[in-house]
Amino acid sequence: MSTPTRIAFIGLGHMGGPMATNLHKAGFAVSAFDLSADALAAVRAQGVPTADSARAAVAGAQVVISMLPASRHVEGLYLGTGDAEGLLAAIEPGALLIDSSTIAPASAQKVAQAAAARGLAMIDAPVSGGVAGASAGTLTFIVGGDAAALERARPVLQAMGKNIFHMGAIGAGQVAKLCNNMALGVIMAVTGEAIALGVAHGLDAKTLSDMMAVSTSRSWATEVCNPWPGVHPNAPASRGYSGGFGNDLMLKDLGLAVEAAMGVGASIPLGELARNLYALNKQAGRGGQDFSGVVQLLTRLP
Ligand code: NAD
Repeated sequence: MSTPTRIAFIGLGHMGGPMATNLHKAGFAVSAFDLSADALAAVRAQGVPTADSARAAVAGAQVVISMLPASRHVEGLYLGTGDAEGLLAAIEPGALLIDSSTIAPASAQKVAQAAAARGLAMIDAPVSGGVAGASAGTLTFIVGGDAAALERARPVLQAMGKNIFHMGAIGAGQVAKLCNNMALGVIMAVTGEAIALGVAHGLDAKTLSDMMAVSTSRSWATEVCNPWPGVHPNAPASRGYSGGFGNDLMLKDLGLAVEAAMGVGASIPLGELARNLYALNKQAGRGGQDFSGVVQLLTRLP
């Protein structure tokens, strides 16, 4: 029997916890770390071995995966902050880095460049599919980086996901992820707006949504995660907008999309408008709710 690949997994939150657990179940030798004691305890309860520090986790690792909130966390982890040395210095030569966080394309490129200077290959592999996809091992990986590095990563990604798309060079995975989430943010807001308009005219929200779900405005918002309470019993809207994909995460992704658009002089009028809607929703105290709760800006719900 061959020795299992040793994987360091850093960042065990809503997404990283179940992803690390799936790697462990698939037979990889995982060493997991998070700054939060609760997050560490949650994966330990699933049988995943944990380490006392990021440095201890990467000792002997052939693959290092990070799943952190934002650009500053990823840059801080690998490149260091202030006097603290970055993790790159502690990673074994020849190891492969996979960052699955959603961050700025420029941050992914910056970290990959520093990694390459130390002889370490890196891909950006942000994901789509949410917490449910992370738990079920059905995530979509949206990858940027060398084809050779992706081939090395493929068996690891396949243990956590179902679809893998190679978008181009390092950072291209992040660009594609931002394109997807910008469209999602706009579609969710306008779907809520359309249903609110119908309801204001006395239409039944469920019948209207069922019609839209098989007509030309159909989308993930009408088919799976309707923003109107009671239309989809399992959607966050039907449980007070709890769980799901947070308004603040959508706001972060739309901010990254605006930044990315400015970098190349692209016009994204609807993306910018949507960013403002999710910012207003946050100011209304709903930053922690599922992003479909943005509909509450547009109407008073039943
Ligand atoms: P989360 O906040 O639940 O988890 C992040 C974890 O990182 C936390 O447990 C935190 O303690 C840990 N952390 C932060 N800095 C650290 C460090 N230096 N060392 C070790 N651990 C550190 O976030 P999440 O929902 O798991 O999302 C992670 C990433 O995935 C984000 O970039 C997000 O945009 C993206 N994403 C999330 C979803 C979703 O539905 N939640 C879907 C797709 C993509």
